[in-house]
Amino acid sequence: MSDNQENIIGFSSTIPVEILLAAGRRPCDLNNLFITDPGSLQLVAAAEEAGFPATSCAWIKGIYAAVHRHRLRRVIAVVTGDCSSTHALAEVLAHDGIEVIPFGFPLDRQPAAMSAALEQLAARLGVSLAAAEEERRQLLPVRRQLAELDRLTWEENLVSGEENHRWLVAASDFNGDPERFAAELDDFLALAAARPPRPAAVRLGIIGVPTICGNLYQELENLGAAVVFNEVQRQFSMPGPADRDLCRQYLDYTYPYPVAGRVADIRREAARRRLDGLIHYVQSFCFRQIEDIIVKRELDLPVLTLEADRPGPVDGRTLTRLETFVEMLRARRSRRPNVNKSAPAVRLSDGGRRDGSQPF
Ligand code: SF4
Repeated sequence: MSDNQENIIGFSSTIPVEILLAAGRRPCDLNNLFITDPGSLQLVAAAEEAGFPATSCAWIKGIYAAVHRHRLRRVIAVVTGDCSSTHALAEVLAHDGIEVIPFGFPLDRQPAAMSAALEQLAARLGVSLAAAEEERRQLLPVRRQLAELDRLTWEENLVSGEENHRWLVAASDFNGDPERFAAELDDFLALAAARPPRPAAVRLGIIGVPTICGNLYQELENLGAAVVFNEVQRQFSMPGPADRDLCRQYLDYTYPYPVAGRVADIRREAARRRLDGLIHYVQSFCFRQIEDIIVKRELDLPVLTLEADRPGPVDGRTLTRLETFVEMLRARRSRRPNVNKSAPAVRLSDGGRRDGSQPF
């Protein structure tokens, strides 16, 4: 990272990036900084050497080590709505001399509390909410581009699941430079639109926190499955109407709030995208693993739960489970009468669990 370190603000999870941009700061999603580091595994090891337990989340450890590797001086810690470990991470960072700015998504998901949280962050960064609103308007074109990228993925089969993941996950900080990001995305969209559509495949969604496995998408492609929905990454792009204010935008963002809101979003998108099945990615030692109970109870599609710990490729056992899952979905599709193989349709009421396809 070569930018003026004083100007960079790292953050532990997606935050209202418009406020940082309005304050003239360079946003840096620490998760992206960690996972795109060629030495991501070493970053985890460095955090463990500093005292983080082996039985703690690798993202937390990676974030911690990335802050130090890049000599960041200021970090926004999302203390409510994201991660149960962030409080402790923030305390250690503050103890190390890093300036920690807390930000909390309101647990009650109410406009008054959200407005107060936005005001507080804006005041801390010395900028007005009106300026942040103007920044929101300026970001609308790039958010429209991201929506188009997503549509090209599920509707036109022109963008791979991994490409979809990479662009949407980067929407939390626009790689630090929204203008450049928009120009690069524009080039990519032109390239994608000129491609032939990808062959018909088993249609998958990946839900849950973005995976730490480097080759999950590639392995799924090798098995003849296309990921046409990345749940949380899509949320990072703030999909939704343009005519809402910052407060509404971050109340619509499903990730920080109770899982019921996420389930409703997943249900809607699974129907729209004609998904055959879902992979629920869970991170080792993450409290969100418990939400798998509700996800499986509430979603009427086959769900495969995958867990991983550290950066690296998926292991052999996971590969076998993926293979079995994709084969099962393929068999379900072929048994379904009137299914158009080039545009597979799935009725959500088919109910994966009711036909014996669970557990995985
Ligand atoms: S994966 Fe879970 S434990 Fe790890 S940082 Fe994210 S929310 Fe926290």
